[in-house]
Formats: sequence, C-alpha cells, structure tokens
Amino acid sequence: MKQLNKDRYYKFSKYLEENFGTKVYKITLDAAFSCPNRDGTISDKGCIFCDESGSFSNLHSSLLPIKEQVQSAIKNLPSRYHAKRFIAYFQAYTNTYAPVERLKEVYDEAFSDDRVIGITIGTRPDCVDEEKIRLISGYKNPWIEFGLQTIHDKTLKLINRGHDYKCFLDAYNLCKKYNIKVCAHVILGLPDETKEDMLETAHELARIKIDGVKFHVLTVLKKSPLYEMYSKKPFKLLSEDEYCDILCDFLEILPPYTTVQRTAGTGLLTELFEPKWVKNKFETQNKIDRFLRERNSYQGIKFKS
Ligand code: SF4
Repeated sequence: MKQLNKDRYYKFSKYLEENFGTKVYKITLDAAFSCPNRDGTISDKGCIFCDESGSFSNLHSSLLPIKEQVQSAIKNLPSRYHAKRFIAYFQAYTNTYAPVERLKEVYDEAFSDDRVIGITIGTRPDCVDEEKIRLISGYKNPWIEFGLQTIHDKTLKLINRGHDYKCFLDAYNLCKKYNIKVCAHVILGLPDETKEDMLETAHELARIKIDGVKFHVLTVLKKSPLYEMYSKKPFKLLSEDEYCDILCDFLEILPPYTTVQRTAGTGLLTELFEPKWVKNKFETQNKIDRFLRERNSYQGIKFKS
C-alpha cells in the first residue's frame, strides 16, 4: 500500500498540484442562494449546529455579480501566493437550490475568467437531480460537496438534517454516473454518537470510495439551535485530543487516495460558544500530524480494498 511521504494524509493541495502541475487556489463565491432547511420547505429551523449565516461560510458580498466576485477574489489573494489557477467555490447555503436555468447562469459566470479551471459546489444531497447533475458535469473539473455529517439516520434526525443516509447515497451515485467528484462533510462529536459510530461513518465512506472528506468538530455557535439545547442540558463535547485521536483513526480507515480537504478550521469565531480550543487551527493540525507520527501511522493503513 502506498505510504504518503512527509504528509501522512493526502492533502487536497497536493492532489491539485499533482493534477494541474501548479498551485491552485479556491475562490469563494456567493450566489445568494437560500436553504430549504431554513426557508420552510423542509424546515424553518435549520440543522441544529448551523447559525443564521449558513454554517462554516466566509461570505463575499452577495450584492456583487459573480463575474465581479471572481475578479475581486483573485485580486485580493496575497501576491506571495503567485496564484495563477483557481477553483470557483460556491460554499454558503445550498448552491443547487434554484431552477437549472438559473444555476447555469451562475456557474457560467464563474468561468468568465480563463484562469478558473474548476468548480466546487456545496449543497445538500436532497437538492440535486439528474438535470442539475448533468449540467454540473459539463463544467471543467467539477466537484460537489455534500453536507453528510454522519451515516447514522438516528443522528441525522436528531440534528434536523431533513434527509437520511440513503438520500446521500442516491445523490452520490448520480454524481458517479456523471463522473463528478464528491467530497463529504463529516462532523465528529455529534450528540449521542460514540467513537464506534463515527468510525462506522469512516468505514462506509471507505466502502463507497469517497473522493474527498472535510472534517469538522461539533461546535456550539451562539445563534444556533444547538446553543439552546446545550444551555438547557449540556452534553459532552470532544476535547482537542479526543478529536485528533478519532480523526487519526478515521484517516487510517479511508482509502489512501481520498483527498483530505479540511482537518481543522476556525469557522465563525465571534459566534463560538464551545469548545474554545477550535480557535487554534494550526495547533490542531500540528497535533494530528504528531499523533500520526507517534502511531507511526498514515491514511489508508487500515483500508481494505
Ligand atoms: S448547515 Fe447547510 S443545510 Fe443545514 S441549515 Fe445550514 S445551510 Fe442549511
């Protein structure tokens, strides 16, 4: 089995460099889409961990046309990056939640600059259909990011996702039919989930040979329904060591070719209630590296193909 060199897991930046021969940067775009789990279509409460701003997003002004957002995002990248190639990243809310004609207009605009060589679309698995997936498959280097969080229906219900695991699997298979790469968001430390539950999610994602994973730890944001739930009846949140330990176990189970697109992030710090340790992203990333080194382990060491 391929052992990863100095990186003990397969970073997305490395995948991009291997595939495009140069550094490629994501530029975050906001098409001002909404979310059916917030606008009352599925629910008006949202996922319990999500606050009003759409969870984990780092928004551009939604007032600017996409074309201008592309130019401004490219211009604002620090010059030390020497960035020449970009991926248009629609991150906030549900970026397939509109008629296909509207989606086409938005995605076309993202490619208004020749330096944009790919597209990543963040969405919900219940907001895609064959027509939308076919449209997306026609763009250069398409990826779709689905908020999965866990494969366990009991937890999906508890966190008010509004869809089950089968819905994700159907959407995933549709993407595979059209050769679209899929990245799944996973949250570690969801209420009532044991380490074994979380690692079952790892085994299942390994089984379907997922193309990419973004890891999050469950955080309690002040404006989220989880805050109310936690304030009334606090439950155990993961410590940094527990998170890193489970994440290392997860990486060992994933295939060595699955790209790891996020291991830690700061999110919306102003709204953060607990756990406070997530504020130090680099410390968490270093700890994950250290844990893998100490275990003399790497991504895929336990993957059974
Ligand atoms: S996390 Fe995503 S799907 Fe859930 S409520 Fe927030 S924007 Fe909607």
